[in-house]
Amino acid sequence: MATTGPLRHAAEFYDAYVFDLDGTIYLGDHLLPGAARMIAELRRRGIPVRFLSNNPTKDPQMYSDKLTKLGVETSVADIANTVVTTTRWLQANHPDAVLFPIAEEPLQRALREAGFTLSEDPEEIDIVIASYDRTFDYRKLQIAFDAIWFHKRAFLITTNPDRFCPFPGGRGEPDAAAIVGAIQGCTGTELVKNLGKPDPIMLHEALANVDVEVGRSMMVGDRLQTDIQMALDGGMASACVLTGEATEADVLDRSADQQPTLLLDRIDRLIPQAAWDELGWSDTDD
Ligand SMILES: [Mg+2]
Repeated sequence: MATTGPLRHAAEFYDAYVFDLDGTIYLGDHLLPGAARMIAELRRRGIPVRFLSNNPTKDPQMYSDKLTKLGVETSVADIANTVVTTTRWLQANHPDAVLFPIAEEPLQRALREAGFTLSEDPEEIDIVIASYDRTFDYRKLQIAFDAIWFHKRAFLITTNPDRFCPFPGGRGEPDAAAIVGAIQGCTGTELVKNLGKPDPIMLHEALANVDVEVGRSMMVGDRLQTDIQMALDGGMASACVLTGEATEADVLDRSADQQPTLLLDRIDRLIPQAAWDELGWSDTDD
């Protein structure tokens, strides 16, 4: 085994923790080993814990409900996702735009509630929003094509850059990058903005009400191109957990300056070894 590279067990506590969800805290409908006790221990020590997800098919309330049902009681205020970042970015930058969200109900609802006009008329659409939409079809592609290419008025943004959403058992589902690809394939248009990880907008949203230095906070996730890249770009410590997408080889193949601080086979190794010993934890427990 290499003697350099990321640590396999945290050496210290950080001042705040930001967690990805899918593949990090849970996979499908099951918490990953050690997740519940690790979160409970951070909270017991009064350390801020936040969650974020690139997945725009759920809103923060749905994530709060899911985490609470799985045994990690979490308030809506502690969750940021691309439904929130997309809506806030549009409010700040394009408050009067007419939108065509290629999106499921949670994002559509958030945009309507924020007062935006949603339209399927290519002649009046200003912004096409590509997202993870399992109702995507040729009709929606034609509307996007007409608004962007034929009427030459709309531009393209996306909620998140993920190619697929991981499922238990190694399967997955095409994600927002597939919709962006379809639209770019026929229009040749540029993507103007991504509102998900690795864009730092997600980090700012997650830590908006946490009074800590970004450099003393820790980002934890299973994807190198989104979770870990955002931390590296933002000057934050990072932990890559091997319970989702990234493999050990993926991490170790990166150059030294692109590796996470920690490489963990189970997420509760975020709690330093000395604290494990005090708590009497072993790595066969959940
Ligand atoms: Mg993930």
